Formats: sequence, structure tokens, C-alpha cells
Amino acid sequence: MKVLSSILSTAIICASTSFVYAQEGTTTQTASAPSSYSCDPATCKPSNNCLCASSNPPNGLDPKETPQFVVITFDDSVQDALYGTAQQMLNVTNPNGCKAKGTWYVSMQYTDFSLVQQWYAQGNEIADHTFTHVGTPSAQEISSAKSMLHEYGGIPLNKIQGFRAPFLNYTAETLKQLSQQQFSYDSSSSASSESDLFWPYTLDYGMANDCWTGICNPGLKLPGFWEFPMYAVMNNASVPQLMDVYLSGSPEDVTKWSLDAFNKHYNGGRQPFGIYVHPTHLSSYPGLPDPKPLMDGVINLIKNLSETKDVWVVSNQQLLAWMKNPVKASEMANQPYMKCEKPVLPSEICNGLDDNNSGGIDDSLLNNCNFGTSNFKTCFNCPSGAPSVSSPTPGSSTQNGTAGYRYPVPASCDPTWWDPIGNKCFCDASATNCNYKNMAVATNKTTNGNGTTSDATSVMTTLPLGQIIASMCVALLWETFSYSR
Ligand SMILES: [Zn+2]
Repeated sequence: MKVLSSILSTAIICASTSFVYAQEGTTTQTASAPSSYSCDPATCKPSNNCLCASSNPPNGLDPKETPQFVVITFDDSVQDALYGTAQQMLNVTNPNGCKAKGTWYVSMQYTDFSLVQQWYAQGNEIADHTFTHVGTPSAQEISSAKSMLHEYGGIPLNKIQGFRAPFLNYTAETLKQLSQQQFSYDSSSSASSESDLFWPYTLDYGMANDCWTGICNPGLKLPGFWEFPMYAVMNNASVPQLMDVYLSGSPEDVTKWSLDAFNKHYNGGRQPFGIYVHPTHLSSYPGLPDPKPLMDGVINLIKNLSETKDVWVVSNQQLLAWMKNPVKASEMANQPYMKCEKPVLPSEICNGLDDNNSGGIDDSLLNNCNFGTSNFKTCFNCPSGAPSVSSPTPGSSTQNGTAGYRYPVPASCDPTWWDPIGNKCFCDASATNCNYKNMAVATNKTTNGNGTTSDATSVMTTLPLGQIIASMCVALLWETFSYSR
């Protein structure tokens, strides 16, 4: 019943979204640069944490010397099967030998916080997608999710920098809230035509994407707060496809649309390219169609992109670090935020990693918290009651000084170094040696920008023929379905 009512309510959203998309597609035919947007690059400079919306790389970098970023993002709750799907999609290597990284926009219900911690411990990004998964969210919907990711996933508050609105349903008020709550960026807007194919930019001079909604009207100015547009792929009818593009055509078609879009970025202004996924569509569930053909298509696409010269598959936070200090592709491998190191620890601690190389992560160290829609595992204390939007982190079920108490991560320690049971940081300012292992593997991609695996200006692929033709609507229905289960 609950699932049914969710689906019905989504169908209503869905109907209006289809209309919006048709309207947006039509607008594309005659689109021009948003006339209301004006920003002077002579005064708005990266050195002042300001960047104008532009289809060219920042700081006057030559596109041919600019890294081609690919961001792969995952939305909604983090659960075992979904986590496995996401891991498979990131199983490619960057030119410096480090594994690709991704960003997960996490909603709270049905999320397993031990997996949130594991995702972060592998160098991926955790971002906010509200508590209840509602569009045009209240301030509390945004802040409660951030609190829970911190309390039960151990994610440092200053590492939760990004936000995406459920159903991409955001307003100027949402963006103001995010800026006030110390987020660094939003990624809910769409770049759906050549006229708004912008690199990420700050909102010192307002929005330059989704202008058809009125969001670009003068008045919204959020200095130093970034917008990361989501980049659309055009289908055969030149209608922009944004999320879960693999539901909109056969794997063969989707790959062609995606490569066409990618090549426009790659051979043009090198704007980042995005693959935006609800991992639930690509995970197997009893009684539902086998998602393998779709998954194979997406994985082949990611492999092809990652083998293209100067392509880096990064989290939005890694991209943000680059935006703040842009460097040439030839210098990417040396950037600290592109490294991949794993702490070397004397024994297993509850930090989201397999510290004793047993093949298991946090062996027998996790707490199980059971509250109906919030059954989750965590390295930290279970709450005394079910978390809610108004009380996301109720008091702990175990008190300090009693057996089984877990110590929260202090601000001075990264959770990958923190033992919440032993109350010890294995690497902080007072530690004499922080022992790391470099996780980079040998790669046949060179790190000086002269990639050897592919020198082509376009990429080719072969794919199994698939089925399934679906629409944005189906994507939204699926999202609601997965969230309800
Ligand atoms: Zn969502």
C-alpha cells in the first residue's frame, strides 16, 4: 500500500516532469545564452573563489591540455546490492594508477551507514540527498541527513560538501539554504543544450542553467557557492536525457548517444561529462527483469571513456578541488587529491576498511541498529530510538563509561584512522608516523598527458544488443519504488 501510494504520487510528479522535459526539449531548438546572466571574468577570478559560468576551461587553459573529467554519481539509499553495483561501475583505473572515484547522493531511509563509511574510506564522496527524499526540501530535510551521515557514518562534517535535490526539484531557497549550511556545491541543475554547456561555476552572479524555470532571474547571488550542472545526453529526437539514460533506449542506442555527447565535450571545451545513476535499476531483484544487459552497456561505456587519453573519472569533490586550482592534464597525477593511499594499521579497527587483510571489512565490530525503516549497521553507537527529520540523531543507546560505548570521531582525526572502540587516533598531529600504503597499480596509461591507450578523438565500442525502451517517467517511478522498499 505504501509502495503503491508512492508510485501514484510519483506518477503525478512524473506527468508534470514529462511536460517539463518536452518543454525543455523544445526550448533547446531555439536556445540562446541566458540573457539575464552576466559575469565579468576580470573581477570574478578563482583566486577570489569566484568563477563565471563558461563553456571554456577555467584560467584560460587550452582545452587540448585540459583533463577530461568524467563524474559518475549514484543517488538514494546505500544498501548492500546497490553498493556492489556502484563498485562494479568504478572498476576502472585513472592515468595515475588509482581507482576511479564516485559520488553518492545519499537519502537516509533504508541506508546502511556502515556502507556509507566504507564508501568514504575508499576515497569516494558522500553527499546529501535529504532525509526523506523529498523535492524542494526544507532546511531540516537537508541538515538532518548531514547530521546522520556524520553521526552514524563517521563522515567529517566538512567532507560533506555536496547536495542533490530529490527529483532534481530545487528552488532558489534550496540553494540559499545549502550555502547557509556550509555546503560547497549543489548538483541539481541540468545543462541540456549547447548554449548552457558550462563548466562548474560559482553563484556570485547567480545561476546560468535551468533558466527556463526563472532561476536565473536577478536576485540570487551566493558568493563562493558552486553549481555543478548535470550534463545531458541527446537521444535520436534531440530530447535531452539526464539520469538513468540506459532506461531510455537499447544499450546500443544509449552508447551512441553518450559517445556523441562525450565527444562534443572532449573535442570542444572539455566540459566534464556525467553518468548519473540510480543503482537500483542496475541491481538484481527477484521477480524483476534481469538488469545485466543494461549494466553491461554502462560498464562498457565507462571502460571506453576511461581508456581515452586524458580522461579522469573523479568524484565531484575531486573536481571541485581542481576547479579551485586548475592544472593541465600533464600535472594531474601529482595533485594530492588524486592520490590513493590506505592506512596501514596493527589490527582490525572499525573504520570501513579491511585493516588485517582478512577479506572482511570491520570483522565483527559493527553495531546493528533496528528501527523499522532504519535498520542499519554502524561503527558508532545506535540511537536510542528511530531517527526522524526533526530528531535525526536521538541520544545514544549506550552511555559513555559503560560497556560497548563507541567514541565519536574527533575533528582532528580522519575516520579511516579512528578506532571508535579503543578511543584512539592512529594518525593525527601528535602521531609520530602515519603508515600509508600506496594503492596505485601499474597502468599502461601514461601520467604525462600522452596517453597510449587511445589517441582517437572519438571512441568506439561494441555492445550486446539489448531491450527495454523506457522514459524519464520510468526512472522516477523506479526511484520511488526503490526508496519505498
Ligand atoms: Zn533520488
